[in-house]
Amino acid sequence: MSEFINFDDIDKHGPQSYRAEIEVSASELDRDEVAGVGPTLLELTAKKGDLPGEYIADGTASFTADFTCSRCVEPYPVANQSAFHVRFRPRPEASASGETEEVEITDTEELDVEYYSERQVSLRDLAIEQIQLSVPMKPLCEEGCLGLCSHCGANRNRETCDCEKKVVDERWGALAGIRDELAKKKDV
Ligand SMILES: [Zn+2]
Ligand SMILES: [Zn+2]
Repeated sequence: MSEFINFDDIDKHGPQSYRAEIEVSASELDRDEVAGVGPTLLELTAKKGDLPGEYIADGTASFTADFTCSRCVEPYPVANQSAFHVRFRPRPEASASGETEEVEITDTEELDVEYYSERQVSLRDLAIEQIQLSVPMKPLCEEGCLGLCSHCGANRNRETCDCEKKVVDERWGALAGIRDELAKKKDV
């Protein structure tokens, strides 16, 4: 099984299909939001695009992972499948003056363009990229996660603490003090 999309193969033999199970470790991703990640199944078809030197990869990346909840800091399991559509284009050559030619972005689809200088693309890099894109900025174990108590650090999804009640008691205490003060003034 090839570990690379090979553009020369596509030129010679037409569209190519790839299927690979790729082991990626959470430390490779370098994201605090990912506590662990299982093997990623990458399935795709790559073919020539319309532009000279352009190739298009269409496929899906499926993986299971443990994301860390941004509120309660507990890991929770995730099963993810994401579809992708990437265009590979030759990296623009530096012009005679040494400046890189400007690449005009004409429509939003061009955001999925990647520039290549070698005529092969690592399936592993593609898998890592797809996992990275699937990790939310602020993962939540569930929409209504109650998070941690800011006073004692208790996980409020699992336990109730007295901190909030104490704050309320202190406020009542302060009010009672004011009430006593007012009462004293009345007596004068
Ligand atoms: Zn949570
Ligand atoms: Zn508390």
